[in-house]
Amino acid sequence: MSFDDRMATVDFRVGERAHIMVDSDVCRSCTTKACVTACPANLFAPTSDGGILFNYEQCFECGTCYMICNGENAIRWTYPDGGQGVVFRRG
Ligand code: SF4
Ligand code: SF4
Repeated sequence: MSFDDRMATVDFRVGERAHIMVDSDVCRSCTTKACVTACPANLFAPTSDGGILFNYEQCFECGTCYMICNGENAIRWTYPDGGQGVVFRRG
């Protein structure tokens, strides 16, 4: 199965609760903004005031942003509620 076909079997069931919260106030003092280039889904966007705009809806739940973030308490990372988030189907 091709990568595109495999990805077409993935559902993103968006939960009402954001499973990742980003504190843009902390991000303003961040010099690397590593999340912007590290997130494979491109969900972190720098804002003109030096903060970060984050959209959790297409998150793969890979955890990369949480691991590379150097801002203390900038990211609050949890799993989505049951039945929400990334849902993989096989076959
Ligand atoms: S790496 Fe962390 S502190 Fe820096 S901009 Fe991204 S989320 Fe904010
Ligand atoms: S968990 Fe992965 S896909 Fe989701 S926001 Fe963080 S880096 Fe991006």
